[in-house]
Amino acid sequence: MIAEARHGVPLCFHRMKLLFNARIHTFDRARPSASALAIDGEHLLAVGGDELLAEFDGAGREDLGGRVVLPGLTDAHLHLQEYTLQSQRIDCEVDSKDEILSRLAERARRARPGEWLRGHGWNQNTWGGDWPSAADLDAVAPHNPVYLSSKSLHACWVNSLALSQAGITASTPDPAAGRILRGPGEAPRGVLTESAVKLVEQVIPEIEPADLAEQLKRVIPGLLRMGLTGVHDFDKRTCFQALQILHQRGELDLRAVKSIPLDLLPQAAGLGLRTGFGDDHLRIGPVKLFADGALGPRTGAMLEAYVDEPQNRGILVLEAEQIFEYGRLAAGSGLSLAVHAIGDRAVRAVLAGFDRLRAFEQEHGLPRLRHRIEHLQTVHPDDAGRLAELDIIASMQPAHAPSDRLMAERWLGGRAALSYAWRTQLDHGARLAFGSDAPVESPNPFRGVHAAVTRRGLDGAPGPQGWYPEQRLTVQEAFEGFILGPAYAAGMEDRLGRLSPGFLADLIVVDHDPFACEPADLAGIQPSATMLGGRWVWQ
Ligand SMILES: [Zn+2]
Repeated sequence: MIAEARHGVPLCFHRMKLLFNARIHTFDRARPSASALAIDGEHLLAVGGDELLAEFDGAGREDLGGRVVLPGLTDAHLHLQEYTLQSQRIDCEVDSKDEILSRLAERARRARPGEWLRGHGWNQNTWGGDWPSAADLDAVAPHNPVYLSSKSLHACWVNSLALSQAGITASTPDPAAGRILRGPGEAPRGVLTESAVKLVEQVIPEIEPADLAEQLKRVIPGLLRMGLTGVHDFDKRTCFQALQILHQRGELDLRAVKSIPLDLLPQAAGLGLRTGFGDDHLRIGPVKLFADGALGPRTGAMLEAYVDEPQNRGILVLEAEQIFEYGRLAAGSGLSLAVHAIGDRAVRAVLAGFDRLRAFEQEHGLPRLRHRIEHLQTVHPDDAGRLAELDIIASMQPAHAPSDRLMAERWLGGRAALSYAWRTQLDHGARLAFGSDAPVESPNPFRGVHAAVTRRGLDGAPGPQGWYPEQRLTVQEAFEGFILGPAYAAGMEDRLGRLSPGFLADLIVVDHDPFACEPADLAGIQPSATMLGGRWVWQ
């Protein structure tokens, strides 16, 4: 059925959907709210009110019953492979050994022969203190090597195939600072402690792309259900291959922007890959560099020493000069940079590198690429306005603030006030792109919104005003960090993010309006449906 042309294109109503009776937050400043959306294929055709019912009377109607619609959210920084592997591990945190074995048996039934089966969380004290054995595992998973880490991470329980692949026999000596538990005739029993766990860990191969693709298929629905319709992934080659496998099969129900690890920059540049290559489902993102370490191990590069460690200012992995040199190679090939920087010394070095890179881009008539700083955890006040000046995206992960609060106070002292400072960045005019850094934090973006708005943990700590409450964002600003910021960082702001005519129809339906609920309730909001490119991918 062909209706009258709109914008000169004939409309075919049978592939059109009309969502109506909804409270739609469009994130389009020209029209912030609406009650109906017309969707043609993958794209939004019209956004408006009840008049759309008459205008598109042949379209398939869906009454949303007054529920709330938001654009789909994007996680601008996560590790999809790591998150997938972690979430697919067999959960061994149960009361009995039999329960672990039955979970393992279930997993072994759907595994390919030879595939490593991994689990985590057992504790022999829950079943009386006896160490388990390889034979227990052999009985249910004879064709797959099995590696189950204990809850404490100080021991692992493995089967005979895993022992033989690691070359551990009766004659293998215990390593320094570790033990191979033994049975009759010194034969390894199947439990390794402390440093001995490495004997097996080091022989576990990286997952095959096809296997990771299968695991991604089991994990992605969980992301859709949290309200994510896109991710910017910072894992490596295998993850990219797995995403491509799904994409080629038409099974990638998620928009993915794939970063390139620094060690592959020469190959990427040599091949002529450019940031943005790909399509709306899978595209090349920035080259990922590390300028320093992390706060936990006090390796983030600080201008002043860590509290109680006067000799320790962390580790600066890349100087400004090196960042510029990599940037020159990347930008000259059309590849943008995303640089991990935790400490204020690292941030300063990255900014100095970007300062030179912007000059280089200008000198050579190159486009100003969408470069980003990842984490941006502590920024010296003198540098706070520099991201905006240089047009560098602040890629931050709000849930880190409540998670790291005590650690930051302990190791940074008063500098904690300059940390996780998204309001400061926004006020200076920088663009925020929010993510989770999953599996470090949950990828649930509503938890990120909650942290950005309240500066509190899920338990409410440290109190009603939150931690350094001057850094709180409005609900609108926090969602923009998960909607508009990632779309801009991906160079897709002309078709992704807002719910506007011509934009991709990526949206979520929620029962509670985040703009009307108590801030404390933001973290618990769960979408009841998720649409990706005009198709309900979770309901
Ligand atoms: Zn990360």
